[in-house]
Amino acid sequence: MKAIRVHEFGDADALRYEDVPTPSAGPGEVLIKIEAIGVNPVDTYIRAGVHLIRPELPFIPGSDAAGTVLAVGAGVSSFRAGDRVYAAGSLGDAWGDCYAEQLVRRAEQFRPLPDNVSFAQGAAIGVPYGTAYRALIQRGGAKAGETVLVHGASGGVGTAALQIAAANGISTIGTAGSQRGLDLIREHGADHVLDHTKAGYLDAVGDLTGGKGPDIILEMLANVNLARDMEIAAKYGRIVVIGNRGPVEINAREAMMKELDIIGIALPNTPPDDMAAIHAALGKGLANGSLNPVIGKELPLTEAIESHHAVLRPGAYGKIVLIP
Ligand code: NAP
Repeated sequence: MKAIRVHEFGDADALRYEDVPTPSAGPGEVLIKIEAIGVNPVDTYIRAGVHLIRPELPFIPGSDAAGTVLAVGAGVSSFRAGDRVYAAGSLGDAWGDCYAEQLVRRAEQFRPLPDNVSFAQGAAIGVPYGTAYRALIQRGGAKAGETVLVHGASGGVGTAALQIAAANGISTIGTAGSQRGLDLIREHGADHVLDHTKAGYLDAVGDLTGGKGPDIILEMLANVNLARDMEIAAKYGRIVVIGNRGPVEINAREAMMKELDIIGIALPNTPPDDMAAIHAALGKGLANGSLNPVIGKELPLTEAIESHHAVLRPGAYGKIVLIP
């Protein structure tokens, strides 16, 4: 089959489209024909060799995919040929191998893809929706009636977080850095929108929350925003660090005086029971339409190099997916 492989860590040109051996399903495994592949920022860090996950070379990148079951291995009764599925592992034990025409993983690392959800949308679930749910509900403990500020709401994780919040009765303030992104997040449930390229844009948060500040902040770029997040958060607020690209200086006094919780999340650390609960909840939301992944761009798998440039460019708009 054709796949993208990395033979040496490096820039996006390290992604090579080539022939690789076709996988087959062993005992307990499921083989799928991939119809769409999700491109996540973490794919670029792993490809560059700057992530904690440093795979043996050569490797096929990509954690997220959706497609149709081709074959199941001995002992698998949960799926059969022809079923529509998405890959629902986490990077911890099921990262990689998705930038390809076929994928084999353990049966429990796939979930059924409801008929109302396209394959491209299916490729946008595993990492982005898994992360958003883990951050907002499981680690952030968000409850109906609370307010969340989603810092970076126009991307894969952010749009997912807005939808999960709306489905759970949580009010949202979302930020984006382009007019298109601002329109998108308004459309996808943000009660208020702010442009994070404008100086002083967070000054409005006090008024938008009746002077209280957000109960929860989901942070996609903590090295830029964390110090200010701590200033604007509500007393007893929770700040969930999802994305970070460098060191940051904070005044810990803010955390002390407001009894703030600053919580990190790393999806691969999610315990199996929590991961199962995440995908049970996501499955329901996808089936009833409250969760509706946004696909901003589709590219052929042969253009994986461009997808790695695009996923790091400003002006995020939902997900970028590759089509084999
Ligand atoms: P994405 O689709 O590329 O979206 C990135 C978002 O960050 C966009 O909304 C972007 O807005 C926004 N952004 C850019 N500059 C910002 C700023 N100064 N302040 C606030 N937001 C800003 O990426 P993603 O898939 O949603 O992932 C978001 C981050 O979380 C990435 O760093 C990713 O590596 C990380 N992540 C972590 C985990 C984990 O387990 N911890 C899991 C998944 C993702 P504009 O483009 O409109 O400016």
